[in-house]
Order: sequence, then C-alpha cells, then structure tokens
Amino acid sequence: MARLAQTEGLNDIQKEILSAVRDFVNKEIIPVANELEHADEYPQAIVDGLKELGVFGLMIPEEYGGLGESLLTYALVVEEIARGWMPVSGVINTHFIVAYMLMHHGTAEQKDKYLPRMATGEVRGAFSMSEPGCGSDVAAITSKAVKDGDSYVLTGQKMWLTNGGSSTLVATLVRSDQGVDPDASVYKKMSTFLIEKTPGFGEVRPGLTIPGKIEKMGYKGVDTTEMIMDGLVLSADDLLGGEPGKGFYQMMDGVEVGRVNVAARACGIAMRAFELGAEYAQLRITFGKPIAEHQAVAFRLAEMATKVEAAHQMMIMAARLKDNGSRNDLESGMAKYLASEYCKEVVEDSFRIHGGYGYSKEYEIERLYREAPMLLIGEGTADIQKMIIARRILEDYKIRS
Ligand SMILES: Cc1cc2nc3c(=O)[nH]c(=O)nc-3n(C[C@H](O)[C@H](O)[C@H](O)COP(=O)(O)OP(=O)(O)OC[C@H]3O[C@@H](n4cnc5c(N)ncnc54)[C@H](O)[C@@H]3O)c2cc1C
Repeated sequence: MARLAQTEGLNDIQKEILSAVRDFVNKEIIPVANELEHADEYPQAIVDGLKELGVFGLMIPEEYGGLGESLLTYALVVEEIARGWMPVSGVINTHFIVAYMLMHHGTAEQKDKYLPRMATGEVRGAFSMSEPGCGSDVAAITSKAVKDGDSYVLTGQKMWLTNGGSSTLVATLVRSDQGVDPDASVYKKMSTFLIEKTPGFGEVRPGLTIPGKIEKMGYKGVDTTEMIMDGLVLSADDLLGGEPGKGFYQMMDGVEVGRVNVAARACGIAMRAFELGAEYAQLRITFGKPIAEHQAVAFRLAEMATKVEAAHQMMIMAARLKDNGSRNDLESGMAKYLASEYCKEVVEDSFRIHGGYGYSKEYEIERLYREAPMLLIGEGTADIQKMIIARRILEDYKIRS
C-alpha cells in the first residue's frame, strides 16, 4: 500500500504476515468480491485459503497450534481483508471473539478441547448476545438456563448471529441466577454457554434450531441468522469458565476486542473507497481536465485521505494498548466510533466522485456504499460508543473538591 495507513514499529513476522495477506486479498478476494456479493454466495474458496494462511489461529497461542500473534497483527490483517471484501472479515471476527473468550476465560479443559481445532479453522465460532427484543440493552436479555441436576436446560430466542449457520461452536449469553447471590446485580446473573452444533440450517442438534439466513442490504456472503433454543440440554462443562454469573463480563471483554476489529474493518473499507475515488478522479475528464484537478474534487480527496489516516492511527493505538495489558475500553470505543463514522463519510465521498457510475452495480463503490452502514451498528452503535466514551472520560475529568 502506498503512503496512507502505514504502521510504525512492526517486526519482521508481522510484516511477512501482512504482505502474504495483502497479496491474497489482491489476487483472490478483490477480483471475485463483486460477483460473490451480488450472488450472496458464501466465499468457501476464500475461507479455505485463509485457513491455509493460518488466519483462523492468528491470535491463538502456539501451544494450541496457533500463531500466537498480537491484537495489533490481527487488526491489521482484518483491515487488509476488509479492504478486499468486508464479509470475509465477518467470517473470522466472531471466530476470533469466541477464541479470545476461551483463551481468557475458559477452563483448561475447554481450552484443550476447542482451541487446537479453532486454530486450524475446523471448529468455527459464532458469538450470540443479541435477541429480537434487545441489542444495546444487554441486561434485558430473556433467554435463560435452568439447572437440572448436573445439566442445564436453555430456552429462548437469539438474533443476528453472524456465522450462525456456518459455525460449529456458538458462545451465547443467557440469564442464569442459580448458584449466584440473589442480591447480586442483573449483570452477575448471566452466564455464557458454549454450544457445539453441526453447521447448516434447521434443527442442528436436539433443542437447537438455526432458521434460514436473514436477507440483508449488504454484508452478503456471510450468513447472519436467528437461533432458537427450546429445551436445549447442555452439561456443566459447557459453561464458559465453569462458574455461573460471569457471562456478562466475559462477553464484554470479547466485545472490547471486537470493537478494535470493527474499527479495523472500517479502516479497510475507507482505504478501498479512497483508492477507488483517487483512481477514478484521475481518469474521468470533465470540462477538459481530469476531475481531480477541479478543486472541489481535490479537496474531497484531501478530506478522505485525512480521515483514512486518522482512523488507522487511532485503531492501532487502541490495539496496542490492549496488547500492552492496559485498559482500552475508552480507546477502543473511540476508535470504533471514529473509524465507522469516517468510513461512512469516505465511502459517500468516493461515491460522489464516481458520479452516475457510482450507482451502477458494476462499480465496487456501490457495494461499499451498502456495506459501510453495518459498521455504525455492529459491536455497539455510535450512540452506545458515545455513552462509553463519556462515562469513562467523566471519570477522569471529574471535578475534585
Ligand atoms: C449484520 C449484523 C450482524 C450482527 N451480528 C451480531 C452477532 O454476531 N452477534 C450478536 O450478538 N449481535 C449481532 N448483531 C446485533 C448488533 O450488535 C445490534 O444490532 C446492535 O448492538 C444494536 O442493537 P439493536 O439492533 O437491538 O438496536 P437498539 O438497541 O434497539 O437501538 C436502536 C437505536 O436506539 C439507540 N439507542 C439504544 N439505546 C440507547 C441509549 N441508551 N442512548 C442513546 N441511544 C440509544 C441505538 O443507538 C440505535 O440507534 C448484528 C447486527 C447486524 C445488523
């Protein structure tokens, strides 16, 4: 990539990984993305290629067969992939969040059981928190687990599972107040369960149904589904971490790294929109000169480039904080908020530069225009990011008397 969105201080391994992924994106993703998107076709060949590159195990420790890389490396890989076609980054994102939750909150047995097969991509993860009645307001979930002897019985309906059909391991959040202090807050009365299932649609294991794909305006190719639990019986070993009442915090930890990931996706799409706009502006002639030489268009490109650069730098700052072991809820919220808003704006500017052709399905920008809005919603809407940012910043800037 040229001058924009460079990252200082990468080691040789990181550079090598990024160069291999960039090459893969340019050769195997960009040329087929529009066709697959218009057909809403699952990108199986691309997913197989990413498995070979080791992307599914990028952050999983080497002792479990992964590459043991940092969140920064992961985010930069996601940025590259989203530059090619965002849904492909969606295929790996929920997998990555579930692997991250297992790495940080799973029991030794759960790690041994799943992480080696997740590193190869044989087991593929989905992350299920949202319900038909709530997304932002996580505390309002109604799905529940009831203890029955040594087992748990789960009932309830989940919504918006990215990879709901193609995954084989779903981490889901439910209410479960048995074994928890009755006076504890609602946040301590939730648990995360690991549900193994077969891929596909319909009844994928007794008591668990994945209806068909939800039809979406963009973000096609990757499957997004509902999930119905109706007397789903799980064992106590399927409770993440082995202890009830920790689910909310485990999920929030996963979402926090997920936010850096969504910021990285926004950076990738914005970068691609900029590249397309810059190219088109130099080729399209109006009034006797390339439109890039009209000041209005040149200024638009300047604004776009500045936003691409600012979003990238903020995203890598948030990733590096997490890698250093620091709290990064403020910075990942800021990165997600800024990068997704800038992405929407850069895509719209590139669309405008394309004139009427931007409205044609033959042009890549038409697809980006439908993909960018998803980033304003997923992993917490812009309003929710602002709530997090304001809450944290007011803690720091509290007036001391
Ligand atoms: C394509 C796609 C894929 C997804 N994948 C997943 C997934 O894999 N797993 C998963 O669990 N979820 C997933 N989601 C769900 C996503 O996380 C939620 O849609 C998102 O959190 C918003 O929740 P909601 O849709 O219920 O909107 P709501 O929470 O109902 O919000 C509606 C509007 O009200 C605003 N609002 C809500 N509360 C407040 C408040 N307190 N203050 C100010 N404004 C507020 C919101 O910002 C928004 O504008 C996915 C969604 C989409 C569209």
